[in-house]
Amino acid sequence: MSVDPSRRSLLFGRKPAAQSPVVFRPPWAIAQFIEHCTRCNACVEACPTQIIVRGDGGFPELDFTRGECSFCGECRTACQSPALSAAQTWQQTIRISERCLAGQGVECRVCGESCDARAIRFILQPGRVAQPQLDSEACTGCGACIAPCPSQAIAMIQTGKTA
Ligand code: SF4
Ligand code: SF4
Ligand code: SF4
Repeated sequence: MSVDPSRRSLLFGRKPAAQSPVVFRPPWAIAQFIEHCTRCNACVEACPTQIIVRGDGGFPELDFTRGECSFCGECRTACQSPALSAAQTWQQTIRISERCLAGQGVECRVCGESCDARAIRFILQPGRVAQPQLDSEACTGCGACIAPCPSQAIAMIQTGKTA
């Protein structure tokens, strides 16, 4: 009889392997970021919105609960290594979870009001409060909608290039 690996872990007291959390780097991070970043901290100090923090191993990562990326380029300018030299900015967008207040019948349009790119529209539906709908093509991945959400329903997700 074969035993499912996660069940086997329970049976034999071993923890299933933990999934590492997705880490978001500054917008121009190259694919081989870890190999090139010297952990000098210059991007952390340069970011005017202070969303770059020292993460695991001292490598910079973004914390969108602190604010948004304005794509000002200060981090790229400050970086003396090739770590932030990608030709294009990142590919990421947001996901709205079931924690969304509108989904629970409570009128809320905070995320839409936070989005300069107008990537979140509210669609009226019969018998329900207006529901948020994301236009992922219009979303820049700036993260401006994440911190203001009163129910922490919004998370960033990667759609392409990994940093
Ligand atoms: S582009 Fe500007 S706002 Fe965005 S992470 Fe870099 S320094 Fe911060
Ligand atoms: S400025 Fe460049 S090398 Fe320095 S920590 Fe930031 S990404 Fe790494
Ligand atoms: S991440 Fe930025 S562009 Fe995308 S929906 Fe949120 S506020 Fe709008």
